[in-house]
Amino acid sequence: MALLLTGRWDAAERDAWLAHLQQALPGEQWLLDAPRDAAEAAAVEVAIVANPAHGVLQGLPNLRLIQSVWAGVDKLLTDPTLPAGVPLARMVDPAMNEAMVQTALWALLGLHRGFLEVQAQQQQALWRQPEQLRAHEWQVLVLGLGELGGRVARTLSSLGYAVSGWSTTMRPAQQDGVNCLQGEAALAQALAAADTVINLLPLTESTRGFFNAARFAQMKRGASLVNLARGAHVLEADLLAALDARQLSHAVLDVFTVEPLPAEHAFWRHAHITVLPHTAAQTDPRSAAAVVAANLQALRSSQPLAHRVERQRGY
Ligand code: NAP
Repeated sequence: MALLLTGRWDAAERDAWLAHLQQALPGEQWLLDAPRDAAEAAAVEVAIVANPAHGVLQGLPNLRLIQSVWAGVDKLLTDPTLPAGVPLARMVDPAMNEAMVQTALWALLGLHRGFLEVQAQQQQALWRQPEQLRAHEWQVLVLGLGELGGRVARTLSSLGYAVSGWSTTMRPAQQDGVNCLQGEAALAQALAAADTVINLLPLTESTRGFFNAARFAQMKRGASLVNLARGAHVLEADLLAALDARQLSHAVLDVFTVEPLPAEHAFWRHAHITVLPHTAAQTDPRSAAAVVAANLQALRSSQPLAHRVERQRGY
């Protein structure tokens, strides 16, 4: 049996992944990109994928697991030929979790302490000290309490911020210092109270276009948005309108509807937008390879697979 490594990436990135995977999984047979004939197709036991081209994963009769090396599987799930009965697992990488916490903290400090504004003031040699509020005076709402959102919310709470988190599953009202919320009514209240909203929702049919004009109108006037999840969560024209009307004071955006963000896009030069080049948290092949190896081991020893995607709900 063989492992198929396939994705929409260049050969150098693929080969770097292969080197790490081969180290974590010695003695395995590898196929790259796509099987070349029926015998190779029949040999594929596990596909390790980075958003491969649609169709690559069909016609693999002995496929037992699709393991994504990316955390978000929204793009992968748009492939209509994705084999229906085969378990799909996504990447939950300790290095990525750590990086996401760092990015969220950096953005939050920039907003809460006014450091982003101070950085802009430097362009004009402007000496102006921002107001210094205590952490507990700054309300943070984290949307999504999964692998990333949960970690971000707990860390910010441990630093003294007043943190609420919103998700679908009922949780204890208070968990690790985070005020856990569900449902539209609780969301409306939390949006109206939050100084900064951090988005870490998955991109699904129910979260696409989540940040629209109506949602921005629900937010506290002068609040800020940090979008670290997916560009399609935000209606870009509505965000620009909310910023221009000063309903929102600032947005830190790591993800965009079109990536790389086109050079002529209004976001690049907007005084109240900070653009990051989808760099909040990257998968680190060094640690991710071990995650893949552990799931392969689980598969072969009939243990439960880690980080399985529920295709119906889309994450
Ligand atoms: P995850 O573990 O699947 O967690 C998703 C969370 O969102 C869960 O808490 C879930 O609620 C909640 N949720 C899902 N649908 C919801 C809805 N309709 N209403 C309310 N809550 C909902 O995801 P993750 O690994 O933390 O990833 C979060 C996001 O980060 C994804 O969009 C991913 O693509 C993105 N990401 C970005 C980068 C980057 O560099 N910018 C890197 C990695 C990942 P339950 O807990 O109740 O199920």
